[in-house]
Amino acid sequence: MKKKIVAYKPVPADVMAYLREHADVVEADAAQHDAFVAALKDADGAIGASVKITPAMLEGATRLKALATISVGFDNFDVADLTRRGIVLANTPDVLTESTADTVFSLILATARRVVELAGYVKAGEWKRSIGAEHFGVDVQGKTLGIVGLGRIGGAVARRAALGFNMRVLYTNRSANDHAERAYGAKRVELAELLAQSDFVCLQVPLTKETHHLIGAAELKAMKKSAILINASRGQTVDEAALIEALKGGTIHGAGLDVFEQEPVAADSPLLSMKNVVALPHIGSATHETRHAMARCAAENLVAALDGTLRTNIVNRDVLGT
Ligand code: NAP
Repeated sequence: MKKKIVAYKPVPADVMAYLREHADVVEADAAQHDAFVAALKDADGAIGASVKITPAMLEGATRLKALATISVGFDNFDVADLTRRGIVLANTPDVLTESTADTVFSLILATARRVVELAGYVKAGEWKRSIGAEHFGVDVQGKTLGIVGLGRIGGAVARRAALGFNMRVLYTNRSANDHAERAYGAKRVELAELLAQSDFVCLQVPLTKETHHLIGAAELKAMKKSAILINASRGQTVDEAALIEALKGGTIHGAGLDVFEQEPVAADSPLLSMKNVVALPHIGSATHETRHAMARCAAENLVAALDGTLRTNIVNRDVLGT
């Protein structure tokens, strides 16, 4: 019998054709919660992103063998619960690393050089004479970048910073990143030292119980007054209420945010009316090329997982008993 796959996010036509070669595909709108959960009940696999998949949603989905998320982050899943149910969870690392690092760097440059604010000033017809110091930004080159979570994306950010912008790179990780230390001169330090020394503090950790609100009022206070916080990890790694207070009070200089505690961010969030905040709609990996590569990778992961041949990109390796 042909397997059944639920696709809960649109995928490009060629990726859909690939899935249909291997299975019957049912397209589901996750916003229609009950219909989506009903579709999972007799599915063998599912592919999608940006939707919280709770244990309750999987009750009775006894055929489900694999879930493929079109993302590297897997904070939308209860991994231990999936493992207990014998469900493989696959993600899409690597293919999105460079485009996400580009997003991080665009936030660094945009906040430092006030690109969005000043582009708005020109478009509003306010540029009447040669600008003065009140419109100057700050340098990026030669400054200190602190990367909280120097993994794949953090490494690609470190490369841009060290080799392209002659920056000093500090980082925190639970384990050393030897490659980044050798190739980019990155120095592993405690979080307190990173916060105290960095001109730009950039978060690239996964969202876990340990990293939830990793940056709160105390950490913001420990940063330089001139420092800029960049978050393109997950919104919940930063205590957003504390960030708003820190920005209002001048505790830090500015913030570049691709992610928010609630997404989409509320239109009346104080963050959106602050000139020293650059806010993006979670575009980390959002290029045509990268989103296509991610969808393809996730589809191949899913098909291989259902065949029992997937060996890479598995989040819960222990489900295989290896
Ligand atoms: P990765 O290679 O696993 O890197 C994560 C780094 O965080 C590792 O170096 C890890 O090092 C470190 N880390 C520090 N504390 C940690 C903790 N408590 N738990 C786990 N890791 C910890 O992942 P990546 O591919 O660079 O992706 C990082 C995250 O970026 C993703 O999880 C996702 O949430 C986010 N992301 C966002 C976008 C976007 O659109 N904005 C796009 C892609 C990814 P140690 O293990 O040594 O601690």
